[in-house]
This record gives sequence, C-alpha cells and structure tokens, in this order.
Amino acid sequence: MTNDRVYASIITIGDELLIGQTIDTNSAWMAQELNKLGIWVKRRVAVGDLWDEIWNALDEESKQSQVILITGGLGPTADDITKPLLNEYFGGKLVIDEAALRNVKDIFEKYIKRQMLDVNLKQAEVPDVCTVIQNKRGTAPGMWFEKDGKVFISMPGVPNEMKGMMSDFVLPRLPQIFSLPAVVHRTLLTAGIGESYIADRIKDFETNLPEHIKLAYLPNFGMVRLRLTATGKNETEITAEVDNLFLNLQSQLQDVMVINEDKTLEEAIGLMLAKHNKTVATAESCTGGYISHLITSVPGSSKYFKGGIVSYHNTVKENILCVDADTLDNHGAVSAETVFEMAVAAKELIKTDFAIAVSGVMGPDGGTDEKPVGTVWVAVAAKSGTITKKFQTRYGRHQNIEVTAIHALNLLRQTIITELENNFSDNNK
Ligand code: AMP
Ligand code: MG
Repeated sequence: MTNDRVYASIITIGDELLIGQTIDTNSAWMAQELNKLGIWVKRRVAVGDLWDEIWNALDEESKQSQVILITGGLGPTADDITKPLLNEYFGGKLVIDEAALRNVKDIFEKYIKRQMLDVNLKQAEVPDVCTVIQNKRGTAPGMWFEKDGKVFISMPGVPNEMKGMMSDFVLPRLPQIFSLPAVVHRTLLTAGIGESYIADRIKDFETNLPEHIKLAYLPNFGMVRLRLTATGKNETEITAEVDNLFLNLQSQLQDVMVINEDKTLEEAIGLMLAKHNKTVATAESCTGGYISHLITSVPGSSKYFKGGIVSYHNTVKENILCVDADTLDNHGAVSAETVFEMAVAAKELIKTDFAIAVSGVMGPDGGTDEKPVGTVWVAVAAKSGTITKKFQTRYGRHQNIEVTAIHALNLLRQTIITELENNFSDNNK
C-alpha cells in the first residue's frame, strides 16, 4: 500500500498568510478534499509574494509529491507574481485565452459596470503550456501544468473561487490521472467524556484494528469526534469491514454517543426535533445569541427553531422575560433560579416544546469569589418540567461562550431524548 501512495503538497502564496492577517483556510479545505479522494497530503507550505521563495517551493515540493496544489498570487495587482513565474518555470509564453477573456468581459459588463483596465484584460493571459481552468466565480483563470509525471495546479487565493475550480475541474480529473485507493470514513460524535477515558474504554478495540484501518480522536470542548478510516483497493470490501467495526464501536460507546454520522451537535438536535415535529426557543444572556446562531446555521432549522431573546441586561430579563425582580436581587443573574425563569418564559412566550436559557460569567472581568469567571447556569424547559445545571468553564471569553453553547445544547439533547422516550407511547396512541 505504502509504495503506491499518491502524495500531494499544498503551496499557499501571500504575505498576508505569513503574518496571520488572512487565515489559511484554503489548505485545510483542499487537504480534506484530497484525503477523501485517497491522495496523501504530505506537506503544506506557505510562502510570501517573493519570486525566489515561490520558485524554491515549487522545486522542493515537486521532489516530495506528485500533485502540487498552489493558491494565491493570481490577482491583477503588482504583488501577484504567480502567473509570470509559472510561465517561466514551465518555459511557456503568455497568450490570451479566449474563453477567459469572454469571462472577464462578462463579469465587467454584468457586475462591475466600469471601463476595463489593461490589468483586467491581462487576467485572461495564460501560459501556452498549461490547460486553462475556467473561473466561473471570478476573473482569474486557474492553470494546470504537467511535467515529469507531476501535476501542478495553480488557483486563485479567494476561497470561493478556488473551491469552484477544485469541485468542477480538479477533483474529478485527478483520479483519471492517478490510480488512487478507496478511502472510507465513519464518524461518531460523543459528548461528556474525555478522550483518555474513551481510549481506556475501547483499548481492546483499538489494539485489534487491522493495519489499513485507523482510528482518530478529534476532541473539541467537551465533545470528542472519533473517526475510523479504512484505506484499500476494493471499496466494497473495506466498506463492509469498516461498517462492521463501526457497529462494534457504537455498541461500546452507546451511552455517550451523540450521533453516528459526521454531523455537529446542532445538526443532531435538528434531526431529532424535525423527526418528532417539536420546536425550540432560546433565552440567552452570556452567549449573546450564539446558541441561536449555531441552531440557525443548520439548513432547514426554520422547521424547529421559532426564535430567541438575547436578554443580556437584567432589564431585558425582567421586562421581556418577566424574571422576578426578587429572583434577580436575591440570587443574581447567574443563578439556577434566574435561568429557570428565563427558560420557562421563553417557552411560554415563544410557544415552543423546548426552551434553552443560559446565564454565566464569561470573563475576563465580572468574577467574584462565589461566582468566578466561567460560572455558567443552563436551564432547559420542556413539557415534563424544567431542569437547571451548573457548569464551570476555564478558558478565555470566546472559548467560554463556545463551551457554554455546547453544554446548553447537550442538555437540550438529553432532555429531548428523555422527553421523547417518555412520550413515546403517547405519540403512538
Ligand atoms: P490572491 O489570489 O493572492 O490575490 O488572493 C486573493 C485573496 O484571497 C487574498 O486577499 C486573501 O483574502 C484570500 N486568500 C489568499 N490565500 C488564501 C488562503 N490560503 N486561505 C484563505 N484565503 C486566502
Ligand atoms: Mg496575493
């Protein structure tokens, strides 16, 4: 297996990447897509907008890999030098590509509605030694070069344009050129258990995995994603094999499993709510709408999410959510009593089956001895009653908000399971 691996290198170009002004999301996305195809991503390199740096990166990466993906440096401005460099590197001559020219003109006529400059026209120039990859989402064409059995693909840095070219052209074409193994992934999401405890529970399972099936732990704030990856020649065989192992893994982690698919917690909740025709509302203090954002990031969430109230200030808790002034005075905004009343009110006001409420101290200021930074109260109101739970997080402000959202959503998930199981016989009457 190891000998016939097809390796890829990713070169991202741009000074802004080196200083962290732009986060290199292109590499991560491209690596995931290559991995799905069975191409082994060997190296990821970022270089500035400098001729020698780019040239050396091409030399070096072509020693390492058969596929070299390049993004960036294709814009119309002077700092973008990838195209003339590739032209020289592969010994070509710049010529106008008619289809690319039509595309640039179309974009100017339809969207920009201004006189084209010479630099815009130059975007349609390509080395005569490449296959042109048309850009349906922008003006700069991509370029595909082949040399000594290696493939070099240059695409724009704009993530949306790069993704279009990858999906339409590059990803379908690579398997036609290289003989790639089949790769099958199965993913399980768990909550409420640390990775070391999972590892301890499934150590026999892990030790007995065959060489061509790997298990990866991907922990993130109180949740651990487990991914089984099988690689082999025969897709049907490895699929059967990995499915069998995956069933075994699920049975060992049944009690902590959120979903047995590559989905997020909010997607898992959405599926449950939609399936049972139930709705949810939110009353958010410390998360400032982040839980509603996560829920509504899932396509189709309008089916089960009715709305939410960002009750950040106590006046909103009191005047809109009708939290008792005495509750706030006696117990404070971050308390079981307050989130209880918030959740009940949200459920009644918004008329849903479930409601989540959160209130906490996200930091860096605002902590006290009694309620230090990271103290969070969560409530979930449901038909069967309202539960409250305290959590303690221990990160910076942004991560505390994320962890709080996960705790709250997980409490909602557990409540939905209990409630729907309890009501199961009712629903089937
Ligand atoms: P360029 O093709 O170099 O003109 O890049 C155009 C824009 O794409 C840059 O200003 C960045 O905002 C963005 N960009 C470039 N490279 C990357 C990358 N590796 N990941 C995410 N965005 C990028
Ligand atoms: Mg650039």
